Amino acid sequence: MTEETVQQYAYKKENASFPFCKGCGHHHYVNHLDDALVKLNLDPKKVCIVSDIGCIGILDSLFATPHTFHTTHGRSTAFATGIELADGILNDSKMKTIVVIGDGGATIGLLHLVNAAMMNVDVTVLLANNFLYGMTGGQHSQFSPLDFVTPTTPAGNIVPPMDICSIVKTCGASFVRQAAATDKNLGNIIAEAIAHPGFALVEILELCTEWATPFNKIDGKTINGKIQYSESDSTPGRSDFSSLYKEKVLGAQKKNIDDTITPKFTSPLQGTRRIVLSGTAGEKVQLASFLFMKSAISSGLHATQKNDNPVTQGSGFSVSELCISSEMILYTGIDEPDAVIISSPEGLKEARANGTLLKCSSKTVVIAEQTLPEFECPGKVFRLPLRATCTGSRAALSALASLNVKKGWVAQEALMEMIDSKFKEKSLLYHRDIETLIPLINI
Ligand code: SF4
Ligand SMILES: [Mg+2]
Repeated sequence: MTEETVQQYAYKKENASFPFCKGCGHHHYVNHLDDALVKLNLDPKKVCIVSDIGCIGILDSLFATPHTFHTTHGRSTAFATGIELADGILNDSKMKTIVVIGDGGATIGLLHLVNAAMMNVDVTVLLANNFLYGMTGGQHSQFSPLDFVTPTTPAGNIVPPMDICSIVKTCGASFVRQAAATDKNLGNIIAEAIAHPGFALVEILELCTEWATPFNKIDGKTINGKIQYSESDSTPGRSDFSSLYKEKVLGAQKKNIDDTITPKFTSPLQGTRRIVLSGTAGEKVQLASFLFMKSAISSGLHATQKNDNPVTQGSGFSVSELCISSEMILYTGIDEPDAVIISSPEGLKEARANGTLLKCSSKTVVIAEQTLPEFECPGKVFRLPLRATCTGSRAALSALASLNVKKGWVAQEALMEMIDSKFKEKSLLYHRDIETLIPLINI
């Protein structure tokens, strides 16, 4: 494409009617942002403006073509971070995400700015600092200068203002600038910030003509006197989070973890079967479920697994709910289990408490450790010497594998291959357990 044929994009609405008070610095902000986008000539589909609450937050309605996203007060940087990570890592696209936020929003959501700077996420924050909450009645913000008069500081602010540039720089921000909204070069500074591959913050100092100028000696000159962070305050060279994540985390996973399962067996199963394993934490209940799920996938089926255990993780009950199906599984709940395996007293207690036993029908096969106390259940109950045969740690998987031999749900070869691969020489113990249990399940 020649220079003459390069597509020129428009961003701001033609004849946009600005909603701001006369003389408000936001007018300059909007025009300079538009100048920057025009200068960069980014495809509008690759630009996302994420706005915060406040007068400046209504800016997004003035832009026609980029994506716009209006968020909750103070949280725009967090939303933008999520958008950028989803786009940068999952979509691998190069969208430019721009946060439009005021000093009130920056105060409320300071930690989001800190995190974004630490991560060096490729987000540009354009912080409109007019030293107060304009939209909500002119209250002072943590950016108000000393002696600043507002409705909430009528005698003048007595707390020194927050230095946001210094904060984000300390947190690793790789591009930090300050400029007055009236600065003729602001469009170029914003363009540089947007083009910067990493976290960039431009603090744009503005006048609020409704609440600031009537009560304070503040004008363009005094604002310019507050600028400390100029061109020298950018530190390029640090990788942005998405690039680093793709290189270090996804790259390492590709090298070390092959978690894809290619079906190489078949299963005659038609429809969906729902199975609950209920036992004791630390006795490989959830691992049993996981290996069964993988063997179902290896058998050409769809499978889901949901686990539950107390917050302590390694003590108390451990429950896993499995669905296997010849169809896509659109509902992973279990209203009526096809099978329930209860391998320990904790498992029985939880199966009672969470209602699993009451959900069983006369068609449900229930395999329970034989030393458990009597329990009420409408299912067909088999009491087997699970713990004496298999010990607690093999009980759930050996019982499930034995039941599978009777039911033929997943290819038994697939399941035994998973067991052999996981437990190596100890898998012989599972082979022995299964041979012992199969004749005891009289289906
Ligand atoms: S209240 Fe202040 S910040 Fe809001 S539009 Fe009016 S001048 Fe601008
Ligand atoms: Mg403000």
